[in-house]
Amino acid sequence: MSTAGPLPASFEGAVLVPDDPEYDRARAVWNGAVDRRPQYVVRCAGTDDVRAAVRVARELGLPIGVRGGGHSAAGWAVPDGGLMIDLTRMRGVVVDPGARTAQVQGGALLGSLDAAAQPFGLATTAGIVSHTGIGGLALGGGVGWLGRQFGLTCDNALGFEVVTADGELVRATADENPDLFWGLRGGGGNFGVVTRFDLTLHDVGTQALVAEVDLDPARGLDALRTWLAKSDDAPRRATLFAEVRAAGPLTLGFVWIGPPDDAVPLIAQLDVLGKAQARRVAPISYLDLQRQSDVGAAHGYRRYAKSHYVQELPDAALEAFLDHTEADVGAASLTAYGGAIADVDPGTTAFAHRDTRFEYDVGAKWEDPADDERHAATCRRLAATIAPWSVGVYVNALGAEGAAGVHRAYGDATYTRLQQLKSAWDPDNTFRLNQNIPPA
Ligand code: FAD
Repeated sequence: MSTAGPLPASFEGAVLVPDDPEYDRARAVWNGAVDRRPQYVVRCAGTDDVRAAVRVARELGLPIGVRGGGHSAAGWAVPDGGLMIDLTRMRGVVVDPGARTAQVQGGALLGSLDAAAQPFGLATTAGIVSHTGIGGLALGGGVGWLGRQFGLTCDNALGFEVVTADGELVRATADENPDLFWGLRGGGGNFGVVTRFDLTLHDVGTQALVAEVDLDPARGLDALRTWLAKSDDAPRRATLFAEVRAAGPLTLGFVWIGPPDDAVPLIAQLDVLGKAQARRVAPISYLDLQRQSDVGAAHGYRRYAKSHYVQELPDAALEAFLDHTEADVGAASLTAYGGAIADVDPGTTAFAHRDTRFEYDVGAKWEDPADDERHAATCRRLAATIAPWSVGVYVNALGAEGAAGVHRAYGDATYTRLQQLKSAWDPDNTFRLNQNIPPA
């Protein structure tokens, strides 16, 4: 296919096919273990190109993958033998500091949003690695260090511009297509290609702080229990976390968004948890905070991860978490939710797990394909030790786990409503390379 083929003459982007020198780079995503070969990579220059690409894919009967930041660990963006709608040229962000809003193109990365908003001391909730795509992140919910203050990324969505399964462009806001507006806030890429997100920004300043202590995991139970119990009542500027890694320490700490001096009382509570092997208290700019995991989370490694949402963490669960240090691979964390995330009624958006207290994640990265099964098996085994306390899973932390996984991500009521919405907006399941909601 070329622009002389089924794409209209007005198409402004580029089409890559397998013998194109850029093709292999274009089909590579964050998880280096994903190795799929689309028939066409349609690199769109704007909304009209996306409309044309959807129509052409349907005409040719090709499965569609939509590539935002390429961070989906399952590699949903890359359709084997299909047509990839590549949004990597649609990365613009325009901030209106007076209105405190941002217009974000569908392929933009989190770093572009932060970079555009921070000169005005503004930001909104977004993830913790700057090369993640806003597309996939916001459509599944969007969790980050501002979540307890301002809710999920999707809670800060004022509106969406969406190319639907029949190639039409529609808007979804509280007033226009409100059913779609509900579904796009958590329901993932099931309903169309979002070419523009309108987001609310907040006056957060530019300062942040990270405080953490390393403890001996063998003696960590009391400290872990005490620390996590503080989460519900902690100031909303703070997000508490616990981390363990193979043959490593138990790290307890929090990220603080706001003036560092205001974090002093919480640091004092961290300091009395036990004899620390190491202690780090670091004021940091919000922009640097948002980039500090970029290198560790770099593209190209082979990856596997598992996740659970948890509410109650009795000692047996905490002991299982501490036992993760015995494994030969992987790192695991518990990260607090609550605050503004929990203020939202569960029916308001398609993100359903509003009463989650912690997100548990375990993951591994490696380079040799021969290690694939060993690392995946270790992550599965460790996650299974936490599973008895699981109340669901974050759709954006879910791998390719089939219909049962998608059900766990939404729960019955939200899943049923999403199916009805899918029947209305995408009855042929045109957008199915995602955590798929089949039509009712
Ligand atoms: P892609 O792989 O490009 O897309 C993922 C899915 O979203 C695909 O199904 C795709 O079709 C769909 N999609 C993407 N853009 C659009 C669009 N514009 N319109 C319609 N559908 C679209 N999540 C958090 O909430 N908080 C975090 O802090 C966080 N940190 C992460 C850090 C790393 C290193 C990684 C790998 C992931 C992280 N995630 C986080 C999970 C992340 O939200 C998901 O992986 C998300 O799917 C990434 O979106 P993407 O656009 O980068 O991915």
